[in-house]
Amino acid sequence: MNKMAPKAGGDSAKVNSAVYKDKSKPTDIRLSNINAAKAVSDAIRTSLGPRGMDKMIQAANGEVTITNDGATILKQMCVIHPAAKMLVELSRAQDIEAGDGTTSVVVIAGALLDAAEKLLQKGIHPTVISDGFQKALKMALQVVESMSTPVDLSNEDALLKAAATSLNSKVVSQHSTILAPIAVQAIRSVMEPIPGGVGARVDLRDVKVIERIGGTVEDTELVQGLVIAHRSANVNGPHRIEKAKVGLIQFCISPPKTDMDHNVIVSDYAAMDRVLKEERQYILNIVKQIKKAGCNVLLVQKSILRDALSDLAVHFLDKIKTMVIKDIEREDIEFVCKTLGCRPIASLDHFTAENLVNVDLVEEINEPLGKYIKMTGCSNGGRTVSVVVRGTSGAVTAEAARSLHDALCAVRCVARRPALLPGGGAPEAAAAAELTRAALAAPGADHYCLRAYADALEVIPSTLAENAGLNPIETVTELRAAHATGSASGAGVNVRRGRVTDMRHEHVLQPLHVTASALALATETVRAILKIDDIINTIN
Ligand code: ADP
Ligand code: MG
Repeated sequence: MNKMAPKAGGDSAKVNSAVYKDKSKPTDIRLSNINAAKAVSDAIRTSLGPRGMDKMIQAANGEVTITNDGATILKQMCVIHPAAKMLVELSRAQDIEAGDGTTSVVVIAGALLDAAEKLLQKGIHPTVISDGFQKALKMALQVVESMSTPVDLSNEDALLKAAATSLNSKVVSQHSTILAPIAVQAIRSVMEPIPGGVGARVDLRDVKVIERIGGTVEDTELVQGLVIAHRSANVNGPHRIEKAKVGLIQFCISPPKTDMDHNVIVSDYAAMDRVLKEERQYILNIVKQIKKAGCNVLLVQKSILRDALSDLAVHFLDKIKTMVIKDIEREDIEFVCKTLGCRPIASLDHFTAENLVNVDLVEEINEPLGKYIKMTGCSNGGRTVSVVVRGTSGAVTAEAARSLHDALCAVRCVARRPALLPGGGAPEAAAAAELTRAALAAPGADHYCLRAYADALEVIPSTLAENAGLNPIETVTELRAAHATGSASGAGVNVRRGRVTDMRHEHVLQPLHVTASALALATETVRAILKIDDIINTIN
């Protein structure tokens, strides 16, 4: 069906056959896009900062999520307008690039769109605005870079502050003293310094976050080893093995099956007996080989073709006192191998002692809400870590895990680009002050664009103040005065004291990469929205 373009706001949208001659159409489309995108930004504004509110999201299936994370809120929001979707994408892009600052990026984009709308009303051409914003971005990035302080990655304190600032604004902020050191320790365990360069490389896939209901967030722990979130398959086997020899197999210990649908008709008792004996012999043969290799902990990859373990196999493995853990997901194999330092064994012929790895302790931990396996002391591997996040309910545990993810990302950003900025809207205020100064000297339309960009950046301190119950106008003017003297100041909104103070003294520090990426991505999206002058729907 050939649909009309969405109707723009106001009565000026004359949607009729002469639509393409209508000069006001591009303007209307642009305004409609801006308004739709601004609505998205307004929806999550109240979640910004340490005193921001949380959202309760209800899914169609009745599942409830409580969160403060911009990317999570937007991901679950049902957004239909194509321009509004761009802001959802923007938040996701920031999540991928930096992992934190997902609310800020959308709030900044919303303010920039608002500024652009006012400039359009002044009669400035969208391309001129777009170019003006690009110049402003360049200057703003220079300001934030110049006010950042380099950090040494061996300085744990600086990393802790970055993690704590990220956790400050979360539902689980009261537990930041527990979660921040865990995030720092986890990243430090897996980071690899870039040879000859600054910073370090961190692959977040090396940090596995496991959610478990039961206990409180305070009970969250870091495990230097492997955690498998389910019980062992043994019925009557060992629950704790010291000095274990672990093997990871990708074949099944169960009667083989044909690829096709097959029927075997057994008509007399003797034949049935033979079938059973054959099966017993087949499984016994595998188990004997396992015993011969000296393996006492067996990990079995999940199989979709047949049972990875038959009951008879479990029985024999119980007898030889081998702990067996089945259903290791195929995509987890790489992580398990990296943790234990082993290689998966694909056939029985390769099941030999040299393919097994030593682990100091393997234990099955029994909790009221289920059992799980913990392996520690992996001398060969140990290039990964696992974090067991706990909470009293599913919603709390999930939010704690999401918050920990943000903290991990914040520390990773510092590892990647070792520099920290004061938080509380200080970098945005400093950039705004510098841009306002530059605007005075700028000719023509650039003057307006730089001014507008500067005012838009102040949305961060103003929203932080507003969410903390302070007067946003008073706070922003106080902040302007503090930054008017020079850009070296770290003055920001101190939500605890309700005043403007130097955020460096408050130890509110955030990674440079988060702020720089938020500014760059928000500006890019706003420029893209400004350049759209029509929405075309396809036939199908
Ligand atoms: P995002 O999803 O963008 O990270 P947050 O809700 O985490 O959004 O809020 C981040 C903002 O809160 C940043 O601008 C940061 O500087 C500010 N912030 C964090 N902790 C504090 C604090 N203790 N005092 C003032 N501002 C803070
Ligand atoms: Mg954050």
